[in-house]
Amino acid sequence: MASIKCASCGSEFTLNQNHPYHAGFSQLGFLYCDKDTTVVSWNDIADNVYRRLAGNKAPWALTAEEQETVENALKGCPCGGRFKFRNPLRCPRCKAVMKEGISEESIYLYILGVWIDGESTNIWK
Ligand SMILES: [Zn+2]
Ligand SMILES: [Zn+2]
Repeated sequence: MASIKCASCGSEFTLNQNHPYHAGFSQLGFLYCDKDTTVVSWNDIADNVYRRLAGNKAPWALTAEEQETVENALKGCPCGGRFKFRNPLRCPRCKAVMKEGISEESIYLYILGVWIDGESTNIWK
């Protein structure tokens, strides 16, 4: 199992995956929750709802307005938080930013807590 270390408090956490997924190669869009480490993901190519909302655009290529459309169409996190493009992955212990959310430069999906996989469950309202 891979792990991730918080640069701020030094805590190390085990990831729920063997290695961070490269969202570009696996055609994944993903957003972190604004309250915990839950991450939601979907397949950019195969997800019909995403395609209807965003066309053929990759998640990191969307305009702010298009991002909001996608965010508003997503179900909330079970914890009560919201999935947003600008949410980074925060340290569960000290809340410092560990990884930025999805962008062209920051394209790896880290699964630290719960992973809501849009390919096996309905993530849309
Ligand atoms: Zn920390
Ligand atoms: Zn949450």
